[in-house]
Amino acid sequence: MEHAAPPAWVMLAYLISGVFFILALRGLSSPATSQQGNRFGMAGMLIAVVTTLVTHEVASLPEILGAIFIGGGIGWVTARKIAMTDMPQLVAAFHSLVGMAAVLVAAAAFLNPEAFGINGADGLINPVSRVEMGLGIAIGAITFSGSVIAFLKLAGKMSGAPIMLPMRHVINLGTLTAILGLIGYFTVDQSPWIFWTITALAFVIGFLLIIPIGGADMPVVVSMLNSYSGWAAAAMGFTLHNTAMIITGALVGSSGAILSYIMCKAMNRSFISVIAGGFGAEAAATGGPAKEQRPWKRGSAEDAAYMMQQAESVIIVPGYGMAVAQAQHILREMADVLKKQGVSVKYAIHPVAGRMPGHMNVLLAEAQVPYDEVFELEDINSEFAQTDVAFIIGANDVVNPAAKTDKTSPIYGMPVFDVDKAKTVFFVKRSMGGVGYAGVDNDVFYMDQTMMLLADAKKMCEDIVKALQH
Ligand code: NDP
Repeated sequence: MEHAAPPAWVMLAYLISGVFFILALRGLSSPATSQQGNRFGMAGMLIAVVTTLVTHEVASLPEILGAIFIGGGIGWVTARKIAMTDMPQLVAAFHSLVGMAAVLVAAAAFLNPEAFGINGADGLINPVSRVEMGLGIAIGAITFSGSVIAFLKLAGKMSGAPIMLPMRHVINLGTLTAILGLIGYFTVDQSPWIFWTITALAFVIGFLLIIPIGGADMPVVVSMLNSYSGWAAAAMGFTLHNTAMIITGALVGSSGAILSYIMCKAMNRSFISVIAGGFGAEAAATGGPAKEQRPWKRGSAEDAAYMMQQAESVIIVPGYGMAVAQAQHILREMADVLKKQGVSVKYAIHPVAGRMPGHMNVLLAEAQVPYDEVFELEDINSEFAQTDVAFIIGANDVVNPAAKTDKTSPIYGMPVFDVDKAKTVFFVKRSMGGVGYAGVDNDVFYMDQTMMLLADAKKMCEDIVKALQH
C-alpha cells in the first residue's frame, strides 16, 4: 500500500506550526523575549499534535490520551521538582528518550511496514523508506546510548574522566563505516539480520563516541546530542510521513549543530577533534597535575565588602558553584547595594560556564539581573585590565590562566577571562581542595592580588551584604 498525500489543510496546519517553531527559536535567542518564544513553541506543538490526532485513523484514542497524560504528568512533575543544577543531566536524559523513540518508530515500521504504508507494489519495503529507516534507527540508537553516557557523566554517576580504549579511532571509524555500508546493503536486501545489526552497532558506537570525551569538552557533547536528537526526530518524521516532525526535527538538528559550532568556538576546539574523542584528555585522565603547596591568602566577607565599596568597578564572574549554591538572588542583592554606593557592577558570562549552554544567563535572568549588565566573554574580557575588583563566584575553569599558558592542560586553548589582570581578585569557593570540572589546579588562587573567600557562595554573599550595610 502506497502512502496517500495528506489533505492541503493538514499541510497548511503543519506549515503554521513550523512557523511557530521558528518564531520560538527566534524568541529564545534573547532572555528578554524567551518567554514569548516558549509560548510560540507551545502553540506550534498544540497545532501539530491536534492536527495529527484529528487526521490519523487513531486505532485507540483513549490509549493515546492515556499515554499523553502519563508522559506529560511525568514530565510536569520532573520539571517542577528538578533542581537547576540537575538540568544538564535532565536534558541529556530527555535526549536519550528522543533517541529511543526514533529507534522504536523505525523498528515498528520495519516489523509492520503495511501499517506505515511503506510497502512497494512487490510487497517489499520501498528502498527509499529502507534508507530512512536505517538512518532513523542508527541516529536514534547513537543518540540514545550517547545520551545515557552523557547523563551518567553529568550526574556524577560515572567518572567524568575520559575512558580511552586502545585503537579507539580505528574501532570508531570501522564501526561507522560498517553502519553506513549496511544501510546501503539494506536497500537491496531487507533481511532482518541487517536491520538489527545496524541497530546493535549504532548502540555501541554511541557509547564508544562519548566515553573518551571528558575534561572540559562535555558542553560540545551536550549540544551535539541535542542536534542528533533533532535529526533522529526528522528521520522519524520521514518514516511516519509527518511533515511537522520533519520540520521540527530539522530545526532542532540544525540549531543544535549551530550551538555545537558556537561551543567549539568558545572552547577553541575543532568539532572533529572533540568527536574523535579524548582531545587533551591525557592530563585530565590522571586527575591533572599534582597540587602544589603554594602560599595563598584567605579573605573575609568584611575584606570583600570593604574593597568593593572602595572600588570604581567590579566585574562578577559566576560559574557552576553559584548554581550549586543558588546564590544568584543574593548576588544580585549584593550588586544592588554596591550600585547604590556608586560602584559600577558588570557580570561576565563565559559560554561554557556552568553545566549547560546558557546556564548562567538563565540563573541571572531568574534573579532579575538587568540584561544590560550582563556581558559575553569577547565583549568584556579587555575590561579586566582596567577593573578594580574581579569577583569570581563558583567559577573556576573559565578563569584558569593555564588555558593560555600550559600546553599540557586539558583546557589549553580555551579562551578564558583575564581575571589575573584585575587589581584585586576575590575567589569564592568552598575549599582549596575543590577543583573545577576539568580537574586542574588554578594559578589564580596563588596570585598576590587574590584573596580566597572560602565558603558556600550563598552564605558568603549574605555575609558580604551584611558587611556592606554596616
Ligand atoms: P567549574 O566546574 O570549573 O568550577 C566550579 C567551582 O565552583 C569550583 O571551584 C568549586 O570549588 C566551586 N563550588 C562548587 N560548589 C560551590 C558552592 N556551593 N559554593 C561556592 N563554590 C562552589 O565551573 P565553571 O563554571 O568555571 O566551568 C564550567 C566547566 O564545566 C568547564 O570546564 C566546562 O567545560 C564544563 N562543562 C560545561 C558545560 C556547559 O554546557 N556549560 C557542560 C558540561 C561541562 P569547591 O568545590 O571548592 O567549592
